Amino acid sequence: MNLLIMGPPGAGKGTQAEVLVKEMNITHISTGDMFRAAIKEGTEMGKKAKEYMDKGALVPDEVVIGMVKERLSQPDCQKGFLLDGFPRTVEQAAALDATLQEMGIKLDGVINIEVPLEKLMARLTGRRVCKGCGASYHVIFNPPKEEGQCNSCSGELYQRSDDNEESVGTRLNAYIEKTQPLIDYYAAKGILKPINGDQEIGKVLEDILAAVK
Ligand SMILES: [Zn+2]
Repeated sequence: MNLLIMGPPGAGKGTQAEVLVKEMNITHISTGDMFRAAIKEGTEMGKKAKEYMDKGALVPDEVVIGMVKERLSQPDCQKGFLLDGFPRTVEQAAALDATLQEMGIKLDGVINIEVPLEKLMARLTGRRVCKGCGASYHVIFNPPKEEGQCNSCSGELYQRSDDNEESVGTRLNAYIEKTQPLIDYYAAKGILKPINGDQEIGKVLEDILAAVK
């Protein structure tokens, strides 16, 4: 089974990807890991990517696609894979399609984890960090014993500026704007699997497994 997973920040995509690859015995290909490995191993595309990154430039699509191709050619991808973090645009998706076709690989499904915007806001703005020891809490999911106070060092808890409503709202809107065309693209191909991410982690996984089988 060859899959792709998408989801906005705060939707639990990382958690689901981790359990899904174990459950299905497929290989997890996250873009970040792929970049690091290609550069470390000094693959042809890894070297090219490094040149751009050393200059502080964006790595062009054809190099990223080249890296994906290198990665998918490795033996551990024959049992199936889960692409995570790529593609990000319709142009990249079309390039990926062409590459997969060339390699004789079929993409079986695109998992899109959906969570209502206000729930994402609540999840993403709830983080609190201890000024003393850096411990991380969440006002809903992992609250401290005493409000505003660290359990281990009694330090004061604060909200990082990245986690305030304005920053989170900007981040989420940018994601939605960029990703909607991609969602439409895969929907038109008939392989989009919308998943309700606004439920327990185990139930989300169950729904994913049912949708891709
Ligand atoms: Zn602390």
